Amino acid sequence: MNIHEYQAKQLFAQYGVAAPKGCAARSAAEFDTALATFPEGVIVVKSQIHAGGRGKGTFTNGYQGGVKVAKGKAEARAIAEAMLGNTLVTKQTGPAGRKVQTIYFDTASSIEKEYYLAILLDRATSRPVIVASTEGGMSIEEVAAKTPEKIIKVRVDPAIGLQDYQKRQVAFALGFNGDLLKQFGRLITGLYNLFWEKDCSIVEINPLATTTEGQLIALDAKVGFDDNALFRHPEVAALRDLNEEDPKEIAAHKFDLSYIALDGDIACLVNGAGLAMSTMDIIKHFGGEPANFLDVGGSASREAVTEAFKIILSDPNVRGILVNIFGGIMDCDVIAQGIVAAVRDVGLKLPLVVRLEGNNVANGKKTLAAAAAELPTLISGDSMADAAQKIVERVRLAA
Ligand code: GDP
Ligand code: MN
Repeated sequence: MNIHEYQAKQLFAQYGVAAPKGCAARSAAEFDTALATFPEGVIVVKSQIHAGGRGKGTFTNGYQGGVKVAKGKAEARAIAEAMLGNTLVTKQTGPAGRKVQTIYFDTASSIEKEYYLAILLDRATSRPVIVASTEGGMSIEEVAAKTPEKIIKVRVDPAIGLQDYQKRQVAFALGFNGDLLKQFGRLITGLYNLFWEKDCSIVEINPLATTTEGQLIALDAKVGFDDNALFRHPEVAALRDLNEEDPKEIAAHKFDLSYIALDGDIACLVNGAGLAMSTMDIIKHFGGEPANFLDVGGSASREAVTEAFKIILSDPNVRGILVNIFGGIMDCDVIAQGIVAAVRDVGLKLPLVVRLEGNNVANGKKTLAAAAAELPTLISGDSMADAAQKIVERVRLAA
């Protein structure tokens, strides 16, 4: 789960990670109250969306820049009005962009130099890794591609935590000494504590900046959390912004379905994560492209299966459906009933290949046969390979 920059900066404040003082507003009516908390002077106006690259982004109405520096409150208000309610397209949003529903006003800083600092989970070593660079403000992927020697990584043993020598190691690599070294020590300590205590998957500051007044501050803030640990952080779960999430994934979550939207045109409905992955593989093997990952789990109800069908059909790219069920705990007849109920609801016209195997398969096939009139596009698949080939072929023929 991701959160907005303004929320991330509230967490920074709790953990002693220095950042400019700012204020968020969700409507034009809130702009004046928010701006009243600032002294007259330069103010940074920042679109809040769950995507980076806002500074260089463009609104679909042609307005340039999702992060802008205003000379005073009147200009800040005008910029905020131009941004709010409009759709911002950045390198990370995809062409559809994201609608800006919150504006963050931030105290402006006189930047001396910009750095990059992040803590994330290194899955190869199962440890938190600090990633830092003197090349901040720009895309870290670009730095990694062009000048990888300018990125330093320090791995932390989670059992003993972040050590002082490691803080100095990163600080010296970034060229900090004197008071900046002290400030960096406080900042990285707070950042690591936040990462660890809140079960983050990433905390990223890009840019981390030194100011002409000798301060070290986080100008941007990105924080992501491990969904599997959210149950122990209700205060974090409360920060969820459903406007930023795929409605299909929200619906799936409600019914305990693991759904991830992909770019292809063949939807799949499978029980079990491993089977779901091999189903996607075999679709690709026969030249197709999966439209989603969907695991209905081992004990899905008829209602959940119906919902799963509706979710995959709400994706306009879908041209065919492959149902691949290996009934161990899952009852094949429950899946069959779900298919029939969903098809009745939505009036399915797309090719549908169903491969059922295992627990109660005979009754499952009976249910499908009994509803044959309502399932004119149903084809049964004998094996996984047969089913995958059939759906790839049908989708190709239809196209
Ligand atoms: P991003 O483009 O989505 O990563 O948004 P950022 O929050 O990183 O802002 C983009 C750029 O705006 C930063 O790289 C900075 O150069 C600039 N910026 C952000 N805050 C300030 C500020 O307080 N003062 C000045 N002068 N520039 C800022
Ligand atoms: Mn940034």
